[in-house]
Amino acid sequence: MGCGERGAQRELVRFQADSRSGLALAPESGRRGRSAYLHRRESCWQRFATRKGLVRSLRRSVDRSTRGTFVALLREDEGGTQFGKEE
Ligand SMILES: [Zn+2]
Repeated sequence: MGCGERGAQRELVRFQADSRSGLALAPESGRRGRSAYLHRRESCWQRFATRKGLVRSLRRSVDRSTRGTFVALLREDEGGTQFGKEE
């Protein structure tokens, strides 16, 4: 978990390390490999982006620029088809 908080599954964004040592949204189907979660909100993404070092649930360290790139992707995606509508 990116911030240590808990939340309902639908409030979370699931992601995983990709083959190029970046981060990518995890597909809905196919639960291969380790994945990590972030809440679907800006405050949580901010915190994730400014941390450094290990992402425990991925057992991998992720540098700042990779985090920043991923958070930018999340922001772009917000409101798009990937996340659906807020209830
Ligand atoms: Zn959070």
